[in-house]
Amino acid sequence: MPLKDSSYRGRFAPSPTGPLHFGSLYTAVASYLQARSKNGKWLLRIDDLDPFRCKSEYTTQILNTLEQYKLEWDESVFYQSSRCNAYQQALNRLQQLNLLYPCQCSRKGLAARHVKDGVYDGYCLTHDTNPNTASSLRIRLPNTKLSFFDAVQGQTIQDLKQCVGDFVMFRKDQVYAYHLAVILDDQAQDITEVLRGHDLLDSTYRQIHLQQLLNVPTPNYAHIPVISGLDGAKLSKQTFAEDVSISPPRETLINVFKHLNLNPPSELVSHDLQTILEWGTNNWSLDKVQDLTSIQFKR
Ligand code: GLU
Repeated sequence: MPLKDSSYRGRFAPSPTGPLHFGSLYTAVASYLQARSKNGKWLLRIDDLDPFRCKSEYTTQILNTLEQYKLEWDESVFYQSSRCNAYQQALNRLQQLNLLYPCQCSRKGLAARHVKDGVYDGYCLTHDTNPNTASSLRIRLPNTKLSFFDAVQGQTIQDLKQCVGDFVMFRKDQVYAYHLAVILDDQAQDITEVLRGHDLLDSTYRQIHLQQLLNVPTPNYAHIPVISGLDGAKLSKQTFAEDVSISPPRETLINVFKHLNLNPPSELVSHDLQTILEWGTNNWSLDKVQDLTSIQFKR
């Protein structure tokens, strides 16, 4: 193994809402290879922020599956569920900056007002809310465009107010927003680059906006193409993608390499997992995934 002397710090941050499936293994492997090829650290964070969707048995299963695939992480596992104080402090800060406002809009109410593509129309900013009814907290956005450079997608830009609208920072059911948690955790773990699926590119603008408000450093970003199933939808727990803990690890890992455009030789399968991962590290390049526009899952 190469010496881990570089300052690169990457991470894999699964949500324990189901077992690890091929799509999440693919992201795990990509972020692992990127970190290892830079002699950097690869950290693991469990995004168990939402108690209604996350289950501790899935956390255990995910950790076991990563071990089964010999994807060894550095340092101790980081859990979002233990970070509420940090999230609350940041929320207080935004409150002090007078950027938050209560919202009681329901999905039904939004639909009745024909709110376009889920872009919040700022209704509760100009209407009174009932103090006896549960509210979410939304952040008031400026009318500016936000742009950043993505290592895979290049320069990208979004008008947050127009494309998303004032978004929720604290849910009605008392759960902190994922965008807030992610930026504070990436900071706490000293992450230098976030490599994740392209489906999360859109949330990056919201996260950078919050980083700027809270004086949190912006890491580098690399959003790789996601794998879709035969129906064209992203391979995910929702589309019942297969649990990889029941697939043969060496063959599955090599199949992940194929999806990452690494062209593994057929004899690689006769080696042990460690050697297969070393081969992946030596042959990995972000440029190879850059060439992919869409990836369809192949067995
Ligand atoms: N927990 C998120 C997921 O499983 C990923 C968060 C991130 O990588 O920033 O989709």
